[in-house]
Amino acid sequence: MSDEEKKKISDAEAEYIFLKSYTCPVCENKLYVPTVKSGKTRMISQDWDLRPVFKNIDTVKYDVIHCNRCGYAALTRYYGVLAKPHKELLLEKIAANYKPIPEPGDSFTYADALARYMLALKNAEARLAHDSEKAMISIKIGWLYRGAKQSLGDPDKMSPEDKANYDALDKKENEYLEKAMEGFIAARMNEAPPIAGMNEVVLDFLIAALCSHFNRFEDASRLIAGILQSKQASSQQKDKARDMLAEMRERMPKQ
Ligand SMILES: [Zn+2]
Repeated sequence: MSDEEKKKISDAEAEYIFLKSYTCPVCENKLYVPTVKSGKTRMISQDWDLRPVFKNIDTVKYDVIHCNRCGYAALTRYYGVLAKPHKELLLEKIAANYKPIPEPGDSFTYADALARYMLALKNAEARLAHDSEKAMISIKIGWLYRGAKQSLGDPDKMSPEDKANYDALDKKENEYLEKAMEGFIAARMNEAPPIAGMNEVVLDFLIAALCSHFNRFEDASRLIAGILQSKQASSQQKDKARDMLAEMRERMPKQ
């Protein structure tokens, strides 16, 4: 895809975006962050790992609040006043060496979004955030690589150059999904629900989906069995869990 085509896509997203103001919790800078207008977007589907797919816009791109003066970055869900020791960690480990990144305007290409997410992950690591927060950033990075990959079109019909690019994005997607899986497994053991906004059923479904994707069939089966027995799970959630189990059984090695 040419740069011009990429620009066209992000320009089309601009009508769904407004600038929301925040104050940077590290340097007090006034921030104007491209944000999706709620009510204007329409979700058309959800991927196997709960990635939401919207018409005309990839909303995942716009979920990081970023300060281009000090390098603060966090998912919207985790934005807020910082405890003093956390603020000091960010000043020392991020702000001290921060170099501003390009400001593209009101809408982002995948590269713009990824730069902000990578910074959010670095921030979370620097201020010793919970596993769940790092896992949530990682899964969304995986989703961005998937979005970038899908924006290239049908892999069976693309040029060798685009196909090589597609494969590289696919590899990065899996790298971050695996990181997310490990992080959510650790969070499930060490944190109390709701975890990253998910109740136990939703979290177990997501971990099972990721385990199944990486052929960790035993772990996935155990989590699915738990969902099927759970009083908290709705009949719709149980149906989805049964579908996942059926799909997984087709791929499991026969004994
Ligand atoms: Zn700042």
